[in-house]
Amino acid sequence: MKGGLGEVDKDFFIGIQNNVIAVIEAFTDSHSKQSKKFIDASEQIVMPGLINGHTHLAMVMFRGFEDDRPFHEWLFNRILPLEANILDEDFVRIGTELGALESIRFGTTTVNDMYYFSEATADVLDKAGMRAIIAKPFIDFVVPDEKTLSNPLQTRSERYKKFHAQYRKHPRITPALGPHAPYTCGDSLLRQVASLAGETQSPIHMHVCETSGEVKESLEKYGMKPVPRLDGLGMFEGLLIAAHGVHLDNTDIEIMKRKIVSVVYNPDSNAKLGSGVCRVPDLRKAGIPVGLGTDGAASNNDLSLFGAMDLGTKVQKLSHQSNTVMVALDAINLATLEGARALGLEKEIGSIEVGKRADIITLRTDYPHTQPLYSVLSQIVYAYNGTEVDTVVCDGKILMENQKHQTLNARSIYERVGKLKLRVQEEHKKMKKAPGY
Ligand SMILES: [Zn+2]
Repeated sequence: MKGGLGEVDKDFFIGIQNNVIAVIEAFTDSHSKQSKKFIDASEQIVMPGLINGHTHLAMVMFRGFEDDRPFHEWLFNRILPLEANILDEDFVRIGTELGALESIRFGTTTVNDMYYFSEATADVLDKAGMRAIIAKPFIDFVVPDEKTLSNPLQTRSERYKKFHAQYRKHPRITPALGPHAPYTCGDSLLRQVASLAGETQSPIHMHVCETSGEVKESLEKYGMKPVPRLDGLGMFEGLLIAAHGVHLDNTDIEIMKRKIVSVVYNPDSNAKLGSGVCRVPDLRKAGIPVGLGTDGAASNNDLSLFGAMDLGTKVQKLSHQSNTVMVALDAINLATLEGARALGLEKEIGSIEVGKRADIITLRTDYPHTQPLYSVLSQIVYAYNGTEVDTVVCDGKILMENQKHQTLNARSIYERVGKLKLRVQEEHKKMKKAPGY
């Protein structure tokens, strides 16, 4: 696909120069002869690199860990205590490498990530060649990467400013503020985040209205729902990327549409954790940009946006009892151009257009489940699963070619993941002995 959204064209040439798409024109033999590097995708589908609007890459290390538990128990009695005991920079580095390997394999060129030891995440993704918004977590208790600090709450903003200064001019990495969620962040912390966002002109990435329990708790504790509370604390003055946005009422949508707020739809995570269905059509009707995310692999359990496009479309059809409420083109839009808008990156990425950054993927068509090919859009959303991705280019650089990674070494990553898994299992054994488990 090229040009306008949903526009399907054949036999064209995309020329890349200095990380940017420099030319799109009808293909001739001279193109292959004159190019420094020529990729023949004539038997393939070419589309923009996919944009994962919400994830925690390093959580691939918790894939399949304590699945199928109630959300509160899973998060507060399993995941958070395990993270508190086991996370260190090395863990995040190895987890992010595996997450990057998987993302690239599934054609994702941009991720919006939030996790501890964000400096390690940024370093890994920079070396992997991916594009990323990386949010440094803010939460009302001491988190794994702050254990050694004498006054974590005070030094937190200084640490963010240092992280921001290091990456603010990076061509692919955007630093962001990551207040975890309304139920883990008190008013004073959120005011601090809002002021830092203004001062550093950083986007905010936050879980918002993921479960009905979160909304109920907010009413009890603060006398108002999360969205009006966040608005009152000045959290919507710059871009706030709200992950999930499942339990939003009409008043919330009214507030959000007047501010710079986007929502990221995570159908796999919401379905697996039984959180509910995001009001994607209503949000889009109100003009709120909606992106698509996988969330972490602990609640998905993979990082394929092809899976998210497929399930996300079907969940909307099912919940609205309408097969036109969300169609294949909508899903592709959420994973590309609208997803870019949701992250504030629409001028740079999200479509194959001259002048935009060269984030492009190609998909093989020679599989039993991808033949015959009548509609490219239908095939991508309803038949592909992501393993068909052949070549991945991000910022003009080849990250994977003919399904072979060019920037990451899979074998060495699997080896380190295997060792880290043993550490997780050891820690899990200890946790099982703790009271209340
Ligand atoms: Zn999440």
